[in-house]
Amino acid sequence: MSTDTPLILRVAVDAPVAGLFDYLPPVARTENTPAPGMRVLVPFGRSQRLGVIVALATRTEREPDRLKPVASLLDPIPLLGAADLAFVLWAAGYYHHAPGEALFGALPARLRRPLPPLESGEPGWRLTAAGHAGTDSLTRAPRQAQVVRLLLAHRSGLGRAELRGHLGDCRSALRALAARGWIEPCRIASVPRIAGGAAATGPELDVYQRRAVDGVQGAFGGFRAFLLEGVTGSGKTEVYIRLLQTLLAAGRQALLLVPEIGLTPQLLQRLTGRLEAPMVALHSALQAGERERAWRSAATGEAALVLGTRSAIFVPLPRLGLILVDEEHDLSFKQQEGFRYSARDLAVRRAQQARCPVVLGSATPSLETLHNARRGRYAWLELPQRAGGASPPELLTLDIRAQPLRAGLSPVLLRLMREELGNGNQVLLFLNRRGFAPVLTCHECGWVGECSRCDARLTLHRAANRLWCHHCGWLRAVPEVCPNCGETDLRPLGQGTERVEAELRDLFPDIPLARIDRDSTRRKGELERLLGAARRGEIPLLLGTQMLAKGHHFPGVTLVGILELDQGLYGADFRAPERMAQLVVQVAGRAGRARRAGRVVLQTRHPEHPLLLSLRRRGYPAFAAAALEERRQAALPPFSHQALMRAESRDEQAAASFLERAAHAATDLAGREVTVAGPVPAPMERRGGRYHAHLLAQADRRPSLQAFLTAWLVRVRALKGGSGVRWSLDADPQEML
Ligand code: ADP
Ligand code: ZN
Ligand code: ZN
Repeated sequence: MSTDTPLILRVAVDAPVAGLFDYLPPVARTENTPAPGMRVLVPFGRSQRLGVIVALATRTEREPDRLKPVASLLDPIPLLGAADLAFVLWAAGYYHHAPGEALFGALPARLRRPLPPLESGEPGWRLTAAGHAGTDSLTRAPRQAQVVRLLLAHRSGLGRAELRGHLGDCRSALRALAARGWIEPCRIASVPRIAGGAAATGPELDVYQRRAVDGVQGAFGGFRAFLLEGVTGSGKTEVYIRLLQTLLAAGRQALLLVPEIGLTPQLLQRLTGRLEAPMVALHSALQAGERERAWRSAATGEAALVLGTRSAIFVPLPRLGLILVDEEHDLSFKQQEGFRYSARDLAVRRAQQARCPVVLGSATPSLETLHNARRGRYAWLELPQRAGGASPPELLTLDIRAQPLRAGLSPVLLRLMREELGNGNQVLLFLNRRGFAPVLTCHECGWVGECSRCDARLTLHRAANRLWCHHCGWLRAVPEVCPNCGETDLRPLGQGTERVEAELRDLFPDIPLARIDRDSTRRKGELERLLGAARRGEIPLLLGTQMLAKGHHFPGVTLVGILELDQGLYGADFRAPERMAQLVVQVAGRAGRARRAGRVVLQTRHPEHPLLLSLRRRGYPAFAAAALEERRQAALPPFSHQALMRAESRDEQAAASFLERAAHAATDLAGREVTVAGPVPAPMERRGGRYHAHLLAQADRRPSLQAFLTAWLVRVRALKGGSGVRWSLDADPQEML
């Protein structure tokens, strides 16, 4: 290599393409020197795209004089460090996703556009007291009114870039408002951080908690994965807090991942009360600017603790010393579209890369994680008893065959409810189906309301007077007469939460009731309000979907009724029983947290189902052991590894025939170790007007599957004639939809 070889920038371009692209540095001289981790704007095809420099090189496999220079360099300093780049690129490789898309997916949304990063302590504007009062009088100055409305929603002010991002150039409106004295300049704090409070002391740890804390602390400074299996209420959060206290005191950073629904103000409050370190929360409800600043404060090391949902796994943390994944079995850790990663699985990889411990905590660990603990790859920590001496709830199954049901409630369950409510206790009913009824049918001719775009029935939502497809969102008004025969005798079949609520109000007219599901909590703050009232015992009767199942403590609940979960026992997905058991145990865990013991009643038509029996008699660990044995015999994950290729098309045949050709392309690659099955139609073949089909690749060993996928995808990408077909690959799929 001669010394005058030009510097080559290896760029991951934000486009659905595999591989990296080589460019030359920008022609225009800038004060900044290109470095890995900076964003660039590059010519790509006939347009320009964003990219991230992932490496500098002196060689290229292309003709050096055919390389184009990047159009511009967007960042003065790298957004991502070398370790961050390596981690995201590893993830892109593992999930066979375009590296540029993976990298941009890991950035806060604002930086996915060609905008400069927000500076810390950025100058901005906020409303004055006069501005707060004067909102209504701006009807004749719409531009100023827009600014005021925006600032009303951001009480602490907005930076100039944020204002421009929302409203475009609004400088003249800002000048006018400043002249009126309605707004004033301010500095936007660089970290929207939740300052940790003075550390209150916690309870004395029990012997199991002590052992868990000591175990993980003993591994600080090196990689080790732990399963923290603790029944609900056993004090897992307390263990996290102790670990965080030690780690943060040593000046390291920590990442705590929680399921989407688990990021409650309750948890934040508990953490801020006990940790003296600056922390930031990263979740989807943040404004773009807030999110970027939180992200930056993690990346600069200013924030010591990052609390976040799935995507926080990609946040740069230069001093990372511990990763905690709470409720590790939760499906929301898996991204189900686009870049289909599992944040839980990536947490283990990231810990390995950062040489720090990772703790996967759950009352109902996934079978994958249990399997890893059983064969010694993860150290197994157990918290077998409820903290503070609370007793575990008792699980009863109730055979509802041939029982007269009212709103899906059997006479026995109703009697138990009356008893508990009469004694001033709280009752929680769980039904994982919102709406009034899952089916509307004509009693005369048998017509059934079906979605015109999906192989699915329309759910009746009576309050909204709509038939609604829960799969594609299609809506129509409820017909007055049968669209088929014109008769008026249309009847709802089955129960949703809306219907059960109506019946309960009839049965218990004097008892305050709250229904908690996606429909009843659309208004901002409503969910928190209901949960707060429920927790304080102000609402005796609670009815809800899985929104109620996770992370919430209702100390006054003494009876939990699970109305039906039978589809989990015989569902088409081999993971259905696992999910059913996790849900039962999680819902059950809401009961009797304090001194009062709880009872859990599970209504079923299959009381003799072996998995249900083992769950009821011997609890989740026994259930999991039985379910793992079934998986082993069937050679299903975690005893094998899968990848699902999905394809969809408007045309009825196109997706399947594309997959036929993809399967054909695999024949000489698969060898003896990998089997490719299909294509088969997806369980719901027609969804949103498109036809869906699958191809399943499976192997006993992960490396053979990975090697196969890499070679296979090169061929699949080159397949011709798949026009109108969208396809994707899902490594370690969690749902076979
Ligand atoms: P989990 O996260 O496993 O559901 P938590 O950490 O939330 O459990 O603990 C459940 C309840 O028990 C909380 O109210 C907590 O303050 C309390 N608790 C935790 N550990 C102890 C302990 N060692 N002694 C007494 N109470 C405890
Ligand atoms: Zn009819
Ligand atoms: Zn539909």
